Amino acid sequence: MKTQKSDFDAIVVGSGPGGATIARELSMQGKKVLILEWGDNNPVKGTIQQTIPRAFIPGKGMLITPQLLGMIRGITTGGSSLLYCATAFEPPVEMLKTHGVDITKEAEEIRGDVPIALLSDELMGPGPQKFLESAQELGYDAHKLNKFIYQNKCRTKCQLSSYGCPYGAKWNARNFVDEALENGAKMINYAKVTKVIIENKKAVGVEYKHNKEIYRAFASKIIIAAGGIGSPLILRESGMRGTGYDFFFDPLVFVYGKIKGLGSGRSIPMSSGIHFDDEGIVMTDFNMPHLMKIMFDLEVFKVKQAFAYKDVLPIMIKIRDDLGGQITKRGWVNKKLSKDDRKRLDKGAEHAKRILTNAGATNIYRGWMFAAHPGGTVKIGEHVDANLKTKFDNLYVCDCSVMPQEWGLPPTWAILSLGKRLAKHLAAADQATKKEDLVLAVSNQETEQAPVAAAAS
Ligand SMILES: Cc1cc2nc3c(=O)[nH]c(=O)nc-3n(C[C@H](O)[C@H](O)[C@H](O)COP(=O)(O)OP(=O)(O)OC[C@H]3O[C@@H](n4cnc5c(N)ncnc54)[C@H](O)[C@@H]3O)c2cc1C
Repeated sequence: MKTQKSDFDAIVVGSGPGGATIARELSMQGKKVLILEWGDNNPVKGTIQQTIPRAFIPGKGMLITPQLLGMIRGITTGGSSLLYCATAFEPPVEMLKTHGVDITKEAEEIRGDVPIALLSDELMGPGPQKFLESAQELGYDAHKLNKFIYQNKCRTKCQLSSYGCPYGAKWNARNFVDEALENGAKMINYAKVTKVIIENKKAVGVEYKHNKEIYRAFASKIIIAAGGIGSPLILRESGMRGTGYDFFFDPLVFVYGKIKGLGSGRSIPMSSGIHFDDEGIVMTDFNMPHLMKIMFDLEVFKVKQAFAYKDVLPIMIKIRDDLGGQITKRGWVNKKLSKDDRKRLDKGAEHAKRILTNAGATNIYRGWMFAAHPGGTVKIGEHVDANLKTKFDNLYVCDCSVMPQEWGLPPTWAILSLGKRLAKHLAAADQATKKEDLVLAVSNQETEQAPVAAAAS
């Protein structure tokens, strides 16, 4: 066992949107922050070769459910935001309010910190454009979606963002990590945290594996931000056994159609969409890199279709799933789709087929199912309070795992807002402690001086 230096104000475990935000905000407050990240910090190349170790190693980045739904997450600095589609859905402010958490201000402040805008017409590829036109023609409430993209750095007909954008156009959590590092934070990569060190019901540090050695690091605040799967595993090892159950993971399916003359299959995915809020379904265009499409087609034995890329319009249907399942001891996802989940996927697929048919598509087929956005494994109101504090003093959680219920939309904006709110709470708590210490010091001084004064009189 090796011991790390212990002169940090805060240790942040994980550097996805949750961890990166809290690390950035605390470092801006002048706190000494240590970020411990399981994955690499290599510059983003936007290649499949670089993405395989980050997202496709079974049991690490790639998790498969008993019903063979694949679920990927990014094990790298920036977490899954390196691979995400950068679509900025508004946070569920009202839903969170019912759980005692108001992020109205923070959600607004995030607009000033990251790029959020509808994609310009020039960047809308032919697929997304066709999807939008056809859906609107049928009377669907289809519209462009907000993106976390620096559009002036973006290129047309580019598909690289699915593997991480090498041009810096796609905003991701590394942007916040970089700011934290500039502010003096320290990051250790390839550091896999296994548990929190608890003494007298207080978190005092963490234990982690790095270069085959076990280390300990200490700080006055510990923030676990290892994502919807990673955080409950660490917390269970630290004495919070009930975490990692009854969660959501937003199942999704693709429906494809061939539209003669459509043109390039390359464009930014999720540029436009339709949200059927009552039905718990969201549907978007979803152009993807050809290699990815080949893999997805082969999963459903569509060998001939796998080689078609140009003129193909993929549509993604993602649903709000019922809570359920468990994260296993070894970190696998054991969750089955409910009857209602399947009905929602079927209903969404029917909408997609209508839109494709109206757009003149032929050879319409449905792919296999996936899952994304795992959350609700360390729920607000159950495992953490409204300030994201656990039952242990000084131990907080800040990522998608704290979401108290399913809401079926991509969560990044919500997670960023929660990170900002937690940083404010910690700063206020810090101020309150300093004031208390001052009052205590003054009253101790007065008590010490009183007998002296009495003796003198
Ligand atoms: C393909 C794809 C597309 C997506 N598209 C969108 C989108 O368009 N819009 C949107 O809002 N969301 C999207 N998402 C979801 C979004 O990326 C995630 O919801 C978000 O990244 C979750 O943030 P997080 O901080 O909770 O966790 P993560 O991003 O998962 O970060 C967790 C971090 O913790 C690290 N970690 C894990 N375990 C440990 C450990 N034991 N020790 C140390 N470090 C650890 C991981 O390496 C990772 O860096 C997408 C996700 C995927 C996979």
